[in-house]
Amino acid sequence: MRYDWLIRGGRVIDPGNHLDAIVDVALQDGKILAVAEALDPGSANQVFDASGMLVTPGLIDLHVHGYDLVTPLGLDIDHYCLGRGVTTAVDAGSAGCDTFAGFRAFAAERFRTRLLAFLHISRTGLSFAGLGGDSEVPGELEALRLANARDCASCVDANRDLLVGIKIRLSSSIADAGRNEAEAFRRAQEAAATVALPLMVHHNFSTVPLEDCPGKLRAGDIWTHCFHGFPRSIVDPETRRIHAVVHEAGKRGVRFDIGHGQGSFNWTVAEIAAAEGFWPWTISSDLHRGTAEGPCYDLPMVMSRLLHVGMPLEAVIRATTSDAAACIGWEDRIGNLSPGREADVTVLALEDFDQPLEDCQSQMRRVKQLLRPRAVWRAGIPAKITHLRHFPNPESIAHQRQQWPRLIVRDAALSEGT
Ligand SMILES: [Zn+2]
Repeated sequence: MRYDWLIRGGRVIDPGNHLDAIVDVALQDGKILAVAEALDPGSANQVFDASGMLVTPGLIDLHVHGYDLVTPLGLDIDHYCLGRGVTTAVDAGSAGCDTFAGFRAFAAERFRTRLLAFLHISRTGLSFAGLGGDSEVPGELEALRLANARDCASCVDANRDLLVGIKIRLSSSIADAGRNEAEAFRRAQEAAATVALPLMVHHNFSTVPLEDCPGKLRAGDIWTHCFHGFPRSIVDPETRRIHAVVHEAGKRGVRFDIGHGQGSFNWTVAEIAAAEGFWPWTISSDLHRGTAEGPCYDLPMVMSRLLHVGMPLEAVIRATTSDAAACIGWEDRIGNLSPGREADVTVLALEDFDQPLEDCQSQMRRVKQLLRPRAVWRAGIPAKITHLRHFPNPESIAHQRQQWPRLIVRDAALSEGT
């Protein structure tokens, strides 16, 4: 038997198959052929030596913005996702029912990264939703007529090969000073129920209380940006504990997702959650134009932050492979290294670091290890690893500090983290 590729000698962590062992991975004709000890390198056309590295199923990033050149947040997904070890990225509502045809043609079909999507309840998606905080830029729910459950659901029905759920942003500043939030939320829930797919919710600075969101989300719905420290944080700023309604939602099966982004990862919140054993179901980046050169950088950097607060390595890999696949109902296709599957494989190095690393408001922690991508195959074909331009990026750190006063959960003071 011959192999196109043999990925040799790495520590294979494949949580979906309960595997954590030093084994080889053989790829043939774009598929996983075998995962086993001591496969014959003489049978391989090409060998990658993964000794001392981690080999995982191709990483899945559940929250990105990939409608490049059409929406202000969109970016080159192959550079920032595939080039960083992410073989499947899920766009979080960049397109709505009126703009989805272009998303298919100009984003999903253009990129080598497998690009799936949540469809925004607003019919224009994030066509004119800027990076936030700019009152001159209107939001996608300024008029309620932009949110139509029937049209949203029929677009999903016609595009189930790419669409995996519905997206809504609940923030008063994008919804006519909050007046449209509750009804738009109801319509998004209706659309999600109609198509029987998850609703992904962004929820901060919102008039909708936690009792309704996540309190009234269904099992399988996704509350993204779960470690933000703004109003509607999972943490009660009085008690510095996670709200009971959040714990209850988690027990009911609501999925809490990181969605790091430009504002939504806060070391203080992450540490409080860690102390309560509250881990995210999925780890995602919310990569977009305002995050990819800092403060987020890329998915392995977000995974590294979770490792730093004590989430076990196996759980971090699970949250970016098998559990992420299950969240969108794709567990039969992606997220593990079972023979016969499309050969999406990522090789990561766990590197010594020992430097301060920022959160979204430039609170610092001295981080000792970073996960960095070393190699990636998408459907059996290797892709080039891309590198961070500025890391750490002092301009981004200085800029993000301006958000710190808006936090309701934060450190006692901003420090340099040394
Ligand atoms: Zn986002």
